[in-house]
Amino acid sequence: MRAAILYPPFRKDGEFPLLTQNRHLKFSKSREVRIFPLVPGHLATNLKHLGHEVLWLDGINRRMSDGEFNQTLDGFKPEVIFLETKAPVVKRHWQYVAELKGRYPGAKIALMGDHVTYFPEESLLNSQVDYVMTGGDYDIVGRNLVEHLAGKEPLGPGLWYRDASGKTATTGPHKLTEALDSLPFIDRELTRFQDYGEAYLLRPTAYILTGRGCGASEDSPGGVGVCTFCIWQHALWGKTARLRSPANVVAEMEICINKYKVWEFFDDNESGPIYNIEWLREFHKELKARKLLGRFQFSSNCRADTLNEEVVDLLVKCGWRLLKIGLESGSDYSIKHLAKCETVDLISRGVKMAKDRGLVVLLTTMMGYPWETEEDVRKTYEVTKELLLYKVRAGDCMQASVVIAYPGSPLWRESVNKGWLLVGKEDYEKYDMSHPILKTPINASEWATKTWSLMKTPKFVFQQLVTVRSLREVDLLWRGLRSLLGHVQDYGDPLPESETNHAAPQTAVSR
Ligand code: SF4
Repeated sequence: MRAAILYPPFRKDGEFPLLTQNRHLKFSKSREVRIFPLVPGHLATNLKHLGHEVLWLDGINRRMSDGEFNQTLDGFKPEVIFLETKAPVVKRHWQYVAELKGRYPGAKIALMGDHVTYFPEESLLNSQVDYVMTGGDYDIVGRNLVEHLAGKEPLGPGLWYRDASGKTATTGPHKLTEALDSLPFIDRELTRFQDYGEAYLLRPTAYILTGRGCGASEDSPGGVGVCTFCIWQHALWGKTARLRSPANVVAEMEICINKYKVWEFFDDNESGPIYNIEWLREFHKELKARKLLGRFQFSSNCRADTLNEEVVDLLVKCGWRLLKIGLESGSDYSIKHLAKCETVDLISRGVKMAKDRGLVVLLTTMMGYPWETEEDVRKTYEVTKELLLYKVRAGDCMQASVVIAYPGSPLWRESVNKGWLLVGKEDYEKYDMSHPILKTPINASEWATKTWSLMKTPKFVFQQLVTVRSLREVDLLWRGLRSLLGHVQDYGDPLPESETNHAAPQTAVSR
């Protein structure tokens, strides 16, 4: 079969949607956020390995014109089309499916992603889409779908479709595989890895998944991640956590290092593999055995409560450079309300321990929780400031955003029940971070912008400059500056009082 994985280059006022591998979607002019969509990357590779022809066409991150995008697709003549979607663009995708049906009448079209996992039937009722794939392992569901269309397999679980009478039907709840090691390594050429990267990562960059889902160490106060805003952990991973074996991950990295000269890996697993110290020990052993230590750097997401001295030392030995850590709020009440199962002290302790041992930290935080007061958000600002300015090194950074509760998530359900939504439940296009969607007594956008501006304080800038150790880091700082300017271009800085209803930047996940 000829299968196309598409990201059509939709635009809104000249801005592109940050859709690929973004837990939170906003439209942006910035070219500095081009995150590699990992599960679709596995899907593309899987299909190629089975002998299907695959077109990887990411019109968003390649900033393609509609003409260029359509011409490439026409040349391919797709028989199956996959579209990843999210709430703010799902209605655009419904319209786009109609366009595709007009141009390729015989092609089967499938939607995938967090929104359609929560509301699979909705897309069948509102568009001409043929299949909706649910759950996070949609690489496996998609592989099954193509094999089915090729006449080789019955349909497996996790799919919604229309039966012969036109009624919606399903093959039942999706299943998450335990056999992550059996998935092929991502084909980096097919999926054009060089098109992707972010301002805070060293180049050449490759994105990787050490596993799927947010786990916690045995002595962490919480179990697996259950934060009420965390759309992927709830929708895609069903509050579970799985890891590939260290040997499997290292084998994939070795190819990237030797064949593509990758320098930095970013593990976009929800909380990395850091919660599992046995995994880290084995990872180090594998890297040593394959003589890879010192030939790359590694960065990942992380829960601060999983850090202790032994873990951080191990991370440094393995080649870790950056940890992306969620603070979310400076108020213990808020952290508890979000079911983050951490405390401000625990997070601060973890961040400082990482920085004490030479790691850099990307701190993420959010503003505008309906229950937070001016005093709470001020605390968030102060804690962020303290942690950001603690032992600054080249590469330290932060992201601040206005909270979004995606349809289906526990925070959204709470917001519906408590009357917190400022928009209609199904005004999905309004969940695009251009305006706050939750009632709040504070000016969340202004606070987020003010917090973002901490990266312009003279002490922070000076320490960044004097701690630069390599040309790669010079490039990193230069791109960081451009990213900050991109933010200014998107929102203006500082926001004038009259416009402070606009949401502040969110370039990636807030965890
Ligand atoms: S926000 Fe972070 S800590 Fe919370 S569930 Fe998601 S990945 Fe885990």
